[in-house]
Amino acid sequence: MSALLNQKIQAVFDEPGCDKNQGKSEKERKKGCTKQLAPGAAAGGCAFDGAKIALQPIVDVAHLVHGPIACEGNSWDNRHALSSGPTTYRTGFTTDINEMDVIYGGEKRLYKAIKEIIDKQDPPAVFVYQTCVTALIGDDIEAVCKAATAKFGKPVIPVNAPGFAGVKNLGNKLGAEALLDYVIGTEEPDYTTPYDINIIGEYNLSGELWQVKPLLDAMGVRVLSCISGDARYREVAYSHRAKAAMMVCSKAMINVARKMEERYAIPYFEGSFYGIGDISDSLREIARLLIRRGAPEDLMARTEALIAAEEARAWARLEPYKARLAGKRVLLITGGVKSWSVVAALQEVGIEIVGTSVKKSTREDKEKIKEIMGDEAHMIDDMSPREMYAMLKEARADIMLSGGRSQFVALKAKMPWLDINQERHHAYAGYEGMVKLVEEIDKTLYNPVWEQVRKAAPWELDEAAAVEVAHG
Ligand code: SF4
Repeated sequence: MSALLNQKIQAVFDEPGCDKNQGKSEKERKKGCTKQLAPGAAAGGCAFDGAKIALQPIVDVAHLVHGPIACEGNSWDNRHALSSGPTTYRTGFTTDINEMDVIYGGEKRLYKAIKEIIDKQDPPAVFVYQTCVTALIGDDIEAVCKAATAKFGKPVIPVNAPGFAGVKNLGNKLGAEALLDYVIGTEEPDYTTPYDINIIGEYNLSGELWQVKPLLDAMGVRVLSCISGDARYREVAYSHRAKAAMMVCSKAMINVARKMEERYAIPYFEGSFYGIGDISDSLREIARLLIRRGAPEDLMARTEALIAAEEARAWARLEPYKARLAGKRVLLITGGVKSWSVVAALQEVGIEIVGTSVKKSTREDKEKIKEIMGDEAHMIDDMSPREMYAMLKEARADIMLSGGRSQFVALKAKMPWLDINQERHHAYAGYEGMVKLVEEIDKTLYNPVWEQVRKAAPWELDEAAAVEVAHG
């Protein structure tokens, strides 16, 4: 691993804004958060994958993967990060290196690929992603990007997060470091207002940002930059002029929020757009921070009026579901900020949480869960598929909410399952999203297919009848 990359990784591990890292001893901190995999466990995404996830939602940029074609295949479009305009981010660019490049080096090929992209597509910037093979053969993507930037007069940004550097979450942070090193602070907005905010760690999955933006519009708040959902390169480049920031995903981009506070004095808070109470709290906090930074005080009154109207509308729409969902038991297998914000959201309509996974949660996340669920909070550190299956089979839960990887456990147990992770097709953020989440849970729970699949098959009925006859 290059000395530069090693230094970056150590700096990310030492993140002062991450309470999980700060709770460790110095020796433990150096090792980072990667845990040895247990035999049979899935590894999840690599660091390169994490960097791509964090940056690919910048929609007008050409994302060029320097490596074998399989790396691009691994990371292309595995999420529904949507764009309201340019679609350059949906084209998979790769240098597709071969054996000869491994022998002679792939730097020339990379340079040519950058030139071809700029000639044919003319994007505002090209992001170049390092991968395992090209890092191992010693390709210096920083040097190539520097030369290309000088030659073509266009930002060419190296994203140095080869897969072997660590897990997906580390990759998120290394991707964010590339923004801090090469993008943020390099351009100026046409104008600024006292109402400009950044939203950090929001990827606009299934268009979730668009369910929140109208609320901010109604408050008179402008999203100067969303890092990185539905973002344009220029917006990220001038994001240092925002007055305040909200960090949406608790761990993915803490380094951006913290360093922007340090460098540009932009205060931030961690909030959630899931669940009625949490959305309202986040809107209040945005207003409070902006007022602290000089926005007129009437912003708070406007915010409270909006919250009152939106909450009333959402509750009225949720009312018909309350009777149908009261007492239903949910097993929640997700992570990070969702482990507590979705808990709060579901409890709002009377759903009981029989367990929530906290594998990817920070200490703060866990404390929040305890606060919401009380001392009897059933936090699951690591649940094996076998345990999940047993829980569902014995009907200790009526439905499982999780990511796509666990869906087959629920389906095998013939129990309802709903996707709430990154591959989901519905947007659950904002007041609108909360109503949608409850509607989807209701649809899944009461889907007549469950009754059908739980019935005994005809041959099983025949067998049962034969046994009855034999026993007289
Ligand atoms: S682990 Fe390495 S080779 Fe595999 S996808 Fe990630 S960067 Fe590519």
